[in-house]
Amino acid sequence: MAKIADNRLLLGIDLGGTKSAALIATAGGEIRHRVSAPTPAQGGPGEIVPFLIELAQRALREGPGPVSGVGVSAGAPTDGRTGHVYEAPNLPGWGNDGVPLADLLSDALGGLPIAVENDANATALAEHRFGAGRGTTDMAFLTVGTGIGAGLILGGRLHRGRSALAGEIGHIAVEPGGRPCPCGLRGCLEAYASGPSVTRIAVEKGFQGEPTGQAVVVAARGGDEAAAAALAQAAQMLGRGLATLCMITNVERIVLGTLAVHAADLLLPTIRAVVNKSTWHGISEHLSIVPAELGDRAQDLAAICAWLTRDEEHLP
Ligand SMILES: [Zn+2]
Repeated sequence: MAKIADNRLLLGIDLGGTKSAALIATAGGEIRHRVSAPTPAQGGPGEIVPFLIELAQRALREGPGPVSGVGVSAGAPTDGRTGHVYEAPNLPGWGNDGVPLADLLSDALGGLPIAVENDANATALAEHRFGAGRGTTDMAFLTVGTGIGAGLILGGRLHRGRSALAGEIGHIAVEPGGRPCPCGLRGCLEAYASGPSVTRIAVEKGFQGEPTGQAVVVAARGGDEAAAAALAQAAQMLGRGLATLCMITNVERIVLGTLAVHAADLLLPTIRAVVNKSTWHGISEHLSIVPAELGDRAQDLAAICAWLTRDEEHLP
């Protein structure tokens, strides 16, 4: 990780599906104090907002201070410009109009300025600033976990889109008329290459082991044909999806997270080959596709970067 000498203290909050954390860190990415707790399952805002406030107050009480800003990385549909968080399958009760999470947290934390981003965008910012995207102007970060989503840095800036839905690469069609996707479309990338999809396809092909992404990866390395075939198909589909992304954005680097980090040896050669074959030379010759670098610290740094980016963007 790059060492950046910036000792301003910040509060980061990571709202995760199963666990959440609050941490005090320097703007240079050094974590000074961290507290975490299980996120209330299926929680509405009436449960989650007080839970996050309590977690944040604990970090502020126990860690060093004072902090100058707060960044939140939310595993939820989020409009980074307004700080609203919206309804999702794992977040019932947040509504289609959303909840003004940034304002609610700021009020409870003595008026501290707050920026909220969805976790794909926030992690893209973290990999761009501290990890595998360092030094690039145009890059994409892909979460390849329970779902597939991308954060896009274009021209050195986070690209959120008109309704903060840019980067929904998990739901572009890579196989017309293909497997049904919970989003209502067919042939989505996510229906082939998310962790649960790879596991489901491996089982359909005859995989007998424990039905988890990790077990499928281990079995594929050990020569299990069903597991290897499911991962080969996922790599093929990721290649198709990324080729489309590259033809549109001409990014210079794609950073792949989660499954693609754990199974880089099994996935990356095919992904690179498909992208090279399916894009113009002028695009692929300037492109590198690499695994994410930040590992366990990605979500903490993502939260910090949500604030740092906002601070630099000078948005209202
Ligand atoms: Zn879909």
